[in-house]
Amino acid sequence: MSLDDISSEAERAEKEVSELCSGLVKFNSAHPEGRTDGCVEYIKGYLDGHGIENEIHANDPAKPNIVAKLKGTSKRRALWVGHLDVVPAGEPDSWTHAAYSGKITDDGRVWGRGTSDMKGACAAAMVTARILSERDSLENSVEFWFTSDEEIGGGEGARWLSQSGRLKGDICVIGDGNGGGMELPSIDLGCKGGAGTQLIARGKTAHGSTPYLGDNAITKLRKVIPWVERIGEYRLELPKELEKLIEDSLVFYRKTQDQDTEEKRDGVERLFHYPTVACNIISGGVKSNVVPDYAEATFDIRLTPGSKPLKVKERIEELVREANVQGVEALVMARETAGYYESPDSPFAHQLSETIERLTGKRPIMKILTGGTDAVSVKNYAGIPCLGYGT
Ligand SMILES: [Zn+2]
Repeated sequence: MSLDDISSEAERAEKEVSELCSGLVKFNSAHPEGRTDGCVEYIKGYLDGHGIENEIHANDPAKPNIVAKLKGTSKRRALWVGHLDVVPAGEPDSWTHAAYSGKITDDGRVWGRGTSDMKGACAAAMVTARILSERDSLENSVEFWFTSDEEIGGGEGARWLSQSGRLKGDICVIGDGNGGGMELPSIDLGCKGGAGTQLIARGKTAHGSTPYLGDNAITKLRKVIPWVERIGEYRLELPKELEKLIEDSLVFYRKTQDQDTEEKRDGVERLFHYPTVACNIISGGVKSNVVPDYAEATFDIRLTPGSKPLKVKERIEELVREANVQGVEALVMARETAGYYESPDSPFAHQLSETIERLTGKRPIMKILTGGTDAVSVKNYAGIPCLGYGT
């Protein structure tokens, strides 16, 4: 069976993919619970039904992972990894069709939380496993892994599977991320990493009618937040070999992200040479007439792979000192490396690029993903080269 045969068989399976995607969407696997046991049972039913060898690996029974295994004649093994957990559905009223209805409309579209990230791709992987299992023989072994907890760092999913030695292979394709579809196909050669930061402000409580007798932790926090945000002006030191990849990534994001305001245009231009910074959680205070003695703020700070996260950490700590507000401390979670990237010149990257070009008629753009995927765990803990190709 050639690549073209596989591709035309996949084209004929469009309805099967939609129905499987719809079936997966009906299981609410949203965080904070992030339960994936329903999805995993559903996938197991499909794989068993088609006689495909599979195994469930679970550290937490509510968050299992499942693998479909196809044996090849060589010793080489290719992995595909996709996740089953999804982000929360938000306001129920904001949905055209209910978030977990898995409604398939007349135009063939599947609706619901997780269709694009990434139960659609998981459904496509299930069908691909079925198509490959019907071949006489495979040269290389192929494993399709369906994981939990990707949206919260892979704790019971890819990170646990990688750290416990369950993920083994020569190459790995991550089916996540915005790949630009058929029109603007792209390959993720890497992911950004983080330097998550928390500010903690401590003060002294007092009655709200005599605030001058206290030391308001929220007031102190408010003063320091803009200083941490200045890390967005810190130019990252990046390896020279990344220059071309960053240029190509910017071409992709200029085309695929809204560019209707100066702020958005500027945001894209700065995306890789500077950290992105967002203060996303603030909490503090207990009652309207009590001066708070505690407040905290959490920042999402993302760094380009190849940059020097420990230098960024130093700079954040320096900025907090420069703010010169007593009783406010910064906790910066930074490791020596952020995210990961593969060389655009590796045989794996060339081969994936050629395959995508044959199937879409377009040469994919190589880019760095602005967020993180399971690739970060698979690459950093299992040491398997990872490329991302989503939809
Ligand atoms: Zn995803």
